[in-house]
Amino acid sequence: MSERYNSKSIIGAKSRVRDVSPTSGMCPICIYECRALCEIGKAAFRGREVLYPLPEQYGMSTAASNKYYHMDWSDLQIMTEVRGAMGAESDPDKAIFPSVSIETTVGGVKLKVPVFTAGLGSTDVAKKNWDGIAIGAAITGTMQVIGENVCGMDPTTTFANGTVAHSEDMNYRVETYRRFWDGEHGDIVVQTNVEDQRMGVDVYALSKLEVGIIERKWGQGAKAIGGEVRIYDIDRAKMLKDRGYIVIPDPDEPGVQQAFKEGSLKSFERHSRVGMPTRRSFVEDVEWLREQGARRVFLKTGGYRPAVVAFTLRCASEAKVDLVTFDGSGGGTGMSPVPMMQECATPTIFLEVNVLRCLQIMKKNNMYIPDIAMAGGFTDETQMFKSIALSNFDSEPYVKSIAMARAPIAAVMKASYFTQLAEQHALPLEFAKSYGNTPEKFFSCFIELRERFGSDFRQIPPGAMGLYNYYHEKLGTGLKQLMAGVRKWKLNLINRSDLASLTERASKVTGIPLIEDIDADVMEKILLE
Ligand code: SF4
Repeated sequence: MSERYNSKSIIGAKSRVRDVSPTSGMCPICIYECRALCEIGKAAFRGREVLYPLPEQYGMSTAASNKYYHMDWSDLQIMTEVRGAMGAESDPDKAIFPSVSIETTVGGVKLKVPVFTAGLGSTDVAKKNWDGIAIGAAITGTMQVIGENVCGMDPTTTFANGTVAHSEDMNYRVETYRRFWDGEHGDIVVQTNVEDQRMGVDVYALSKLEVGIIERKWGQGAKAIGGEVRIYDIDRAKMLKDRGYIVIPDPDEPGVQQAFKEGSLKSFERHSRVGMPTRRSFVEDVEWLREQGARRVFLKTGGYRPAVVAFTLRCASEAKVDLVTFDGSGGGTGMSPVPMMQECATPTIFLEVNVLRCLQIMKKNNMYIPDIAMAGGFTDETQMFKSIALSNFDSEPYVKSIAMARAPIAAVMKASYFTQLAEQHALPLEFAKSYGNTPEKFFSCFIELRERFGSDFRQIPPGAMGLYNYYHEKLGTGLKQLMAGVRKWKLNLINRSDLASLTERASKVTGIPLIEDIDADVMEKILLE
């Protein structure tokens, strides 16, 4: 069992003994004089709070499922090659790994690396780390999606006739990215959910901020219900209720106000509504967005059941959206219910297989096929390689890019926190001994970025350097190495023949042959002919 029921670090619950009953997760003997706080014990005091990742860490953390889904990207192995060089001259002096091209175009947007940052919206962790997140994406040459509910949560937002007239937070988020955007690689995207649509966030972004790309959202990997955040201020909770959000408990109830005053109630939940998409309304909506000035329209969705994957792609095809991002189950940047993260929806690799099955049918029937991005637990270049290669049956990969959220936030938070520790002369000793005690020394990209940006370099926060190092240096360089290892110098050349399945299950699910069967048909020919 990969995660123990009743004892989960994500909710700060721990059982008294380790040898718990595997089915219930309870201690084999549950005693009166137990001082441990297991999930049941904690729920006895905090009730619904225990559904969520540690509330004490809200705004300073991201959360994910730690359940093992019996297959993941490590069940596929990359098959290396030694003969020739595809996409480059077969010259050992020229076909070297740094010359591999990992550029891609996704939904009509050019990216220097095939990874972009998926919608980060009104959650505190996104807001607090925004400068690093947005500037890091811009200097990497990739895309940043501003997530849902930003205008609705912004206290400075003003409304005219029920729609957004001004939002400082939205303006700031767009401008921060654009300050370092080269105008060619990447772009800023504004995502909208049901609440955002009601408030006219799309029209505001298109007309006032000249944002060219709107992403509609149908759920996400962490949960199939609307976005949720935690509010610690009762006046803010009231403001959000007045703006039409679902706020639990009701901050206008006298009993709730009393509980908040006395301290037994510490926070409020703000929920968004769930969408009810239909094919016709979606197609009309996308047409309407284009009339409002959207150059491109994207769609983000979660790891829904296979029939919904088919429905989503039918809608996306008919509406001719530019990009669909499918987010496999598992992770959340805000306040996703832990049981939903663990137990609901389709894990990423299974989801991609469902998507590919649909796309093959669509191709056979000459239907319009949007670009695809996969998201859901991606953290390294080997997973990126496998996801893109898996999607290439003959000519071009369907998956044009990977989208990430938790991993880039982690890179930004780490870079910011360690810079803060350096200023306080409190860096971990081992770290300081190995890499130095100033940003000039411990950021390997420091000198390069200083030379590249000159006097503007001072405006690049440590978090952005962390993200650039992660996206460009680590993922980008790592991907180039893997591609050179299969002797392919262009991203669109990697395909299913570069992969082997390590297990029967992986082979059955993905259709990639088992490693012991790979090339069996050509070995004799090569040896004897
Ligand atoms: S309350 Fe019972 S099940 Fe929970 S930790 Fe204590 S002994 Fe174990």
